[in-house]
Amino acid sequence: MASATSHPKKAAAFVKDLDRAHWHDRALWFVRAKRDKAAKTIPEWEELRECASQIKMYAMTHLGEMLTQFEEQAQARGIQVHWAKDAAEHNQIVLDLLQMNDVKKVVKSKSMLTEECHLNPYLERHDIEVVDTDLGEWIVQLREEPPSHIVMPAIHTKREEIGELFHEKIGTKKGATDPQYLTEAARQELRQKFLSAEAGITGVNFAIAESGGIVVCTNEGNADLGTSLPKLHIACMGIEKIIPRVKDLGVFLRLLARSATGQPITTYSTHFHGPRDQDCQMHIVLVDNGRSELLASDDFRRSLNCIRCGACMNTCPVYRRSGGHSYNNTVPGPIGSILGPASDPAKHSTLPYACSLCGSCSDVCPVKINIHEQLYTWRSKIVLKGLLPTSKRLSMKFASAVLLRPWLYQFAGKMARFWLPKLPRFLAYNKLNKWGWQRELPDAPKKSFREMYRQRQKTQGK
Ligand code: SF4
Repeated sequence: MASATSHPKKAAAFVKDLDRAHWHDRALWFVRAKRDKAAKTIPEWEELRECASQIKMYAMTHLGEMLTQFEEQAQARGIQVHWAKDAAEHNQIVLDLLQMNDVKKVVKSKSMLTEECHLNPYLERHDIEVVDTDLGEWIVQLREEPPSHIVMPAIHTKREEIGELFHEKIGTKKGATDPQYLTEAARQELRQKFLSAEAGITGVNFAIAESGGIVVCTNEGNADLGTSLPKLHIACMGIEKIIPRVKDLGVFLRLLARSATGQPITTYSTHFHGPRDQDCQMHIVLVDNGRSELLASDDFRRSLNCIRCGACMNTCPVYRRSGGHSYNNTVPGPIGSILGPASDPAKHSTLPYACSLCGSCSDVCPVKINIHEQLYTWRSKIVLKGLLPTSKRLSMKFASAVLLRPWLYQFAGKMARFWLPKLPRFLAYNKLNKWGWQRELPDAPKKSFREMYRQRQKTQGK
């Protein structure tokens, strides 16, 4: 029996609202089409992808060296570097820094790592106000739900719902749905939060070993404002964000925005190379949280190459039709279906099956991760770990028994061709047979392929 938090259950709840499911599918396909157009403007696109893949592979196979070099360079620039082995350590480090500086109000720009570590609720439990300043993140924060997409966190939300939400939370006009009006209202509200914040927390898109600097990409400039006003900047990053050299950055910046939203470049790609002034502080928290284990795995190491562009989500036929929340994981979609089981195989055992194995995710991935192959590998691991539901396990056993015996397979085919047209319809289409809920069986052929083949050989005199 699938649990209430399994992908099939949550996806079923999402598709109940057919209008929303179709609208969600179209919205993401629009972004995917924009990505295709943008990629086609770069004749050397495939070479760029290959180059990015090689750089990431190099960085991951020299990770220890890269991180040490990064730490030395960052410290030389006056940045304080901290190491966290897991989410709990990360949260503790951030809290200590905030408390040491008497901070009660924080503005945060988009960071999937802090989502992964559940930093917001942790800080709120310690009486620290955290405001997510990316518009989409702020919307989901006000809705008290997690992001459903790593680049477009509120993509599941319609503008009418945002109008209602803003009316209730910040007093915009009732029934207002004009995006410009709503964005302006959000801007005014967030401006006050920026002005009163005592610290800014950001994520990190790229950390450069050679220079000890970091790069944060946003379209709204919120990371820039959030780190320009307060005196304390804390940047939180997974250890896989490292790239070797400054000149590698050009490869990734060209790929990232085009893959994510079809833009030629993210509006703000801000380079941080140390505290702003003498009385300011800049800290970087390097977080492992299971990444070393992934690095040690031959099967899944390449998933660490991910630059979190979201392209695999936009193209995935399952993600588009089931919504990001159905994955019940910080990172949803195809790459999340690799990372989720790696962190907790039992909790996320259904995710590798949320995949048609069409391979579209691997085709669009700017760093050439073999996503669909890794998902396929996860399926066999789920079986070996005994995490497959009984119904699926038994039906696979039955199928294997038939497929292993040609005589039984032929006999079963004969029986099916004879009986299927005669069986009452309710036997295939009833409440218990999920298969029949959205499918129609084709008419049973009169002969098997084998019989047709033999007949053809005969008539051709072979
Ligand atoms: S796996 Fe590839 S396509 Fe998916 S988010 Fe990561 S970099 Fe983008």
